[in-house]
Amino acid sequence: MNTAFICVTCGTQFPPSTEPPPACPICTDSRQFVGLDGQQWTTLEELSQKHHNIIQKQEANLYSIHTEPHFAIGERAFLLQTPQGNVLWDCVALLDPPTIDAIRELGGIAAIAISHPHYYTTMVEWSLAFDNAPIHLHAADRQWVMRPHANVQHWSGDSRQLLADLTLIHTPGHFDGFQVLDWPEGADRKGVLLSGDQPQVCMDTGWVSFMYSYPNYVPLGSQAIRQIVSRLEPYKFDRIYGAFPKRTVAGNANEIVKRSADRFIRAIAS
Ligand SMILES: [Zn+2]
Ligand SMILES: [Zn+2]
Repeated sequence: MNTAFICVTCGTQFPPSTEPPPACPICTDSRQFVGLDGQQWTTLEELSQKHHNIIQKQEANLYSIHTEPHFAIGERAFLLQTPQGNVLWDCVALLDPPTIDAIRELGGIAAIAISHPHYYTTMVEWSLAFDNAPIHLHAADRQWVMRPHANVQHWSGDSRQLLADLTLIHTPGHFDGFQVLDWPEGADRKGVLLSGDQPQVCMDTGWVSFMYSYPNYVPLGSQAIRQIVSRLEPYKFDRIYGAFPKRTVAGNANEIVKRSADRFIRAIAS
């Protein structure tokens, strides 16, 4: 029987096969790591027996989705409601019937967009469960799609309009095809940035960070950081929702990105 295996360390799902893949290229990449106990695999069925998803309202029209107990990287995804339909931003590996029901109650999913390959996870399952919702990824990360599918739509360029007034912005750094999502209506129309891993909201949520590898502590260079800041410059946002639960910059986010970039560049300058 064919099984779509999921990597335990990063949550990436591979195309159905009789045997697990020989390795997970997401984890053997220098930005990630193979678990200290070696490569391990699971399946969506096995995952749903031991884990469940928590869906929490973050503000009007924005819900976070994360898995408990902790699985793989431990990121949160978001469901963003717009008058033109809902967007799933980023993704988590676990998709089970209670999650599907809860999201249908909130209006389903019209489009999916994911910041970078660490959160591609089971994106194809999510798309299939929600009427083949298109998955919008940046073309510069095409090589990192482990389970190719017709519902994946690659775009290229610096920005792309999504549903309503949402914009995907290409901010290469952590990955060449890294993208963030700008939501001008968020935070009472003061603007929200959904950033995934970059800028990464720090444990001190008054600051953000910019790394090539977070688990292996490899910083980005100053040129890449300056480019990220300049690509974000035209967008006004007061709040940033980062990849991990409670890692949210509550206000003054435009300024916090700038001062954090300055601090980081000073720290790595020789
Ligand atoms: Zn992996
Ligand atoms: Zn990452």
